[in-house]
Formats: sequence, C-alpha cells, structure tokens
Amino acid sequence: MTRPMQIALEEAKAAAARGEVPVGAVVVSPSGEIVGRAGNRTLEDKDPTAHAEMLAIRAACMALGTERLIGCDLYVTLEPCPMCAGAISFARIRRLYFGADDPKSGGVEHGARVFSRSTCHHAPEVYGDIESGPSRALLRTFFAARRD
Ligand SMILES: [Zn+2]
Repeated sequence: MTRPMQIALEEAKAAAARGEVPVGAVVVSPSGEIVGRAGNRTLEDKDPTAHAEMLAIRAACMALGTERLIGCDLYVTLEPCPMCAGAISFARIRRLYFGADDPKSGGVEHGARVFSRSTCHHAPEVYGDIESGPSRALLRTFFAARRD
C-alpha cells in the first residue's frame, strides 16, 4: 500500500474510534511531503462540512500559506461527495486518488459527477479504486455496528 493511502486509512480508523464515519484524507505536496491529514470530524466539530477532505485541504493550505494547492495530490479512502469534489477543484488539486467508490453519496463517478460539468474549471486527474478493500471493510463494520 502506498504510504499516503496508509496514513489516510489510519485517519479513517481514528475517525471510527471517535464515532465518526470512517473516512480519512491526506494531501501530499509536489515534493512528496505530507502537508495535511485528517479524518471526518462532523460530530466533534458540530460542522456538517468537516469531511476528511475539507479538513486535510484546510490544513495543507495553512501549512503551505496558500489557498491553491497547485501540484498537490489528495488521497482519500472514499469517493468524495459533491461538496468535497468542489473544494478539490477550487484548491487546484493535481491528482485525486480515492479508495472505495460511493454510489450513494459520491460526487465524482456517481451523482453530480462534479468534475465532468462545464461549470467545473479545474478537474484533477482521478484514480479510483485505490486500495479500496480495507476502506470498504472499515465502512461496512462501522455501519453494521450502528444497525444493531
Ligand atoms: Zn465530502
């Protein structure tokens, strides 16, 4: 497993331990340095926008002192939702690597397909189904436990 995806998975596991939906994200700078990492914090922050990708992008922008992450890549364990796909576009992320696909809430390969719209002015290169097994297992376990 690539190191950024491994760290994203660690963030997803930490999110699950906090009772959050287990999704983790990592931003890697053009020089290969990890400049942002986060798991979902919507419950803890009482913030519906506190998805892993949003928090990792914010952290990376703070770390690099810029609002555009040109040349940076984002790794996330689950297909981003439309909100996060929008933020990825605004941040000018170069490449998006995501784990499990999300037919119910995803906005990249499903639903809104944000990057395919004419109103989307920057689309990253997208690589899906990256190390999706562990991510999918984590989500399945999390939601199975909630149904009991
Ligand atoms: Zn999202």
